[in-house]
Amino acid sequence: MKIRTVNYIIACKASYFIICKASYFIICKTSYIIIYFEKGENRKMPSDIKGRIFNIQRFSIHDGPGIRTIVFFKGCYMRCAWCCNPESQSKEIETIIEKDKEKIVGRDVTVDDIMPEILADLPYYKRSEGGVTLSGGEVLCQADFAAELLKECKSYGLHTAIETAASAPFSEIEKLLPYLDLVLMDIKHMNSEKHKEYTAAPNERILENARKIAESGVELIIRTPVIPSFNDTPEEIKAIAHFAKTLKGVKEHHLLPYHRLGTDKYKGLGRYYSLPEIEPPTREKMEYLLSIAETSGLKCKIGG
Ligand code: SF4
Repeated sequence: MKIRTVNYIIACKASYFIICKASYFIICKTSYIIIYFEKGENRKMPSDIKGRIFNIQRFSIHDGPGIRTIVFFKGCYMRCAWCCNPESQSKEIETIIEKDKEKIVGRDVTVDDIMPEILADLPYYKRSEGGVTLSGGEVLCQADFAAELLKECKSYGLHTAIETAASAPFSEIEKLLPYLDLVLMDIKHMNSEKHKEYTAAPNERILENARKIAESGVELIIRTPVIPSFNDTPEEIKAIAHFAKTLKGVKEHHLLPYHRLGTDKYKGLGRYYSLPEIEPPTREKMEYLLSIAETSGLKCKIGG
């Protein structure tokens, strides 16, 4: 057991050892006993459970309010044809070629390993009302580790968020909810067959999870990546927007325009980018789809 936050130190003379208990720690030094009490209610150290991540991005102004640190988890249940982080999809540690150099993607860490990097920006979070977002890949593929990390972040008073496609059993999501301030959840298509064709997963569980997350009371923002040839029609955007409106407590719907920034990574991984040559939607097209989404009555915006 380690000691982090010391609230009280009590020293008294004694000549014998007393061993540690759950919420306090006693050390015998020469003839004095020094008792350290942890701050707050029985605060336990995070476990040694390991998670597999592939990046930590500091000073992000996306994926949640304020200045944020984004932790990217490795592994995803889905295989979206447009995915701009293909190196996130496999849980395996991989090699990618970037600028003619080999780079290892993925490393195993404990919560303790990465907390110093997260806490380094504490002043920025405080000033900007920012915090930490867990992204991926799919955080829910490693729900136990994610829950430990979120719990630790909460113990420092940080704002916490996840970015998720929520294609996981709800029992995995439930592990995270007690430690979350915000869920940024994708809804990509209302037609399950088309959803499966482009992402390798049907959407029934996703829609059901959206309802359950909304009912949990955690703030939920719905996001829709706007992908030409997949869901960039007024009918589809309207269907998603009006479904989002039925979710208790959801106030915002964000439209994220398709981009091709990740396509070189497919080559670097020796993989094929399966979407046909499509252009990102124009500003005018996005403004038009935004006006359609706004018919739901939710606050809508382009980008997230
Ligand atoms: S859910 Fe996200 S990380 Fe997973 S394949 Fe789709 S776009 Fe990529």
